[in-house]
Amino acid sequence: MGAKWSDNVTVTLTSDGTSFRYQSNGLPSHDLAKAYLVPIGQEQPFTNFEIKATDGFVKASPIDVTIPLTPVYSETVTQTSLGMIGVMISGAPLFNDYENPQRSIVAMDDQHIQDGAAFLDSCNGHPLQQGNSYHYHASPPCVTQTVDTGGEHSAMIGVLLDGFPIYGPQGDAGTIVGNADLDECSGHLGRTPEFPAGIYHYHLTTKDAPYSIDCYHGKVDASLVNAAMGGGPRGGGPDFAAVAQTLGVTQHALMDALGAQMPPNFKAAASALGITEEALRAAMPPPPN
Ligand SMILES: [Zn+2]
Ligand SMILES: [Zn+2]
Repeated sequence: MGAKWSDNVTVTLTSDGTSFRYQSNGLPSHDLAKAYLVPIGQEQPFTNFEIKATDGFVKASPIDVTIPLTPVYSETVTQTSLGMIGVMISGAPLFNDYENPQRSIVAMDDQHIQDGAAFLDSCNGHPLQQGNSYHYHASPPCVTQTVDTGGEHSAMIGVLLDGFPIYGPQGDAGTIVGNADLDECSGHLGRTPEFPAGIYHYHLTTKDAPYSIDCYHGKVDASLVNAAMGGGPRGGGPDFAAVAQTLGVTQHALMDALGAQMPPNFKAAASALGITEEALRAAMPPPPN
């Protein structure tokens, strides 16, 4: 994997040589904003925010995930869910572009800035409401600036959970790619700096939504997709609205508690929600086979 992994990222081959294991503390190697605008309450789209100073609020949320080394292209696409859909060279995860499983709130289009604090920082990232699981919703300029060269195809900035690489917005000869150049999953087959013979790869678009990746065009382990928090019935993952209702908590509180770690830490999530681990496990549907 010829990507420029940050020092906080460890990439190791699995013993059978078919996958690689990505481990990081979940925090990006670049600077964070001094403060974030964090939604209060569960209303959507978000209306009420509080300013949270980053120090003491944004927490490391370790990532440890195993991803195929030789991705397999699939004609059938799999919808991405909320939560981690890929891992980036900076050490932070990529989420899709949405803030809710109904896909009605696009984080990049719901930017709020108040007293100098923003919902999304200049890297197009932010933490969850509890300060955990910092993540990107779009191409992070803080990362692409360090690896991209003008007039050339973007350099690899991450890997989606299906194993196909992720790039910034620059296509061949540095032209900015958009939806017209890409398939429904924001991918295409072509040469990249790391794969000169050509490979299917994703681009994070900057001129058109979705900005992130709406579907996997590679075969993806259903347990990975579900552990990354699911996307409701359409995504094939758990219906978190229903789980939240069963538990008597809000969906946002549930998502925040489960975080982006895979598989979720049920014990910690249950304690964050003030319920028993047994109750949480009972409410969560088993992953499909
Ligand atoms: Zn977010
Ligand atoms: Zn490309």
